Amino acid sequence: MKIGVLALQGAFIEHIVVLKDLGAECVELRQKKDVLRNLDGLVLPGGESTVQGKLLCDLDMFGSLKGMIESGTPVLATCAGLILLADQISNDNKVYFATMPMTVRRNAYGRQLGSFHTEAELFGMGNIPMTFIRAPYIESAGEGVEILSKVGGKIVAARYKNQLALSFHPELDESRKIHKYFLAMCEENR
Ligand code: GLN
Repeated sequence: MKIGVLALQGAFIEHIVVLKDLGAECVELRQKKDVLRNLDGLVLPGGESTVQGKLLCDLDMFGSLKGMIESGTPVLATCAGLILLADQISNDNKVYFATMPMTVRRNAYGRQLGSFHTEAELFGMGNIPMTFIRAPYIESAGEGVEILSKVGGKIVAARYKNQLALSFHPELDESRKIHKYFLAMCEENR
């Protein structure tokens, strides 16, 4: 299985370590030609969505990646990655790939709770640890979006077709459940 991990900025190395550990081959996506390789899945890591969005355009990678997502290549999007998928951002007038019908709020937990750790049930996966870092949450999910987890009444994990979007950072915790689930999505889509 060959997984492309967007490697422009943010926490991409941690995803690569986990995916390799689970037996996947990883390709760091740094320029347009990396995206044109035959990939079974795509990871959009956490970081800073505004910076990532700008680099994707500057490096001319935006269109090819959006095309891949729209054509059904499975995506695991964490934190800033979730923001890139949203078709609406309630506290920003920009959108990026806009391939997932949901409204998200950036830096949604404010300063007091800027970063925190908890454990919560994720549909079908049982309890998993969740690390939030200046995280967004999903304010509302559109038609066809399956809500997978809520923390404090807010949606923090959802799936739409082959797009799996999380507010938190599964790559920073010990549990491999989410990456395993994602690799199973990729396997199924092959
Ligand atoms: N606050 C970041 C943003 O708005 C997301 C934070 C993260 O990815 N950990 O893009």
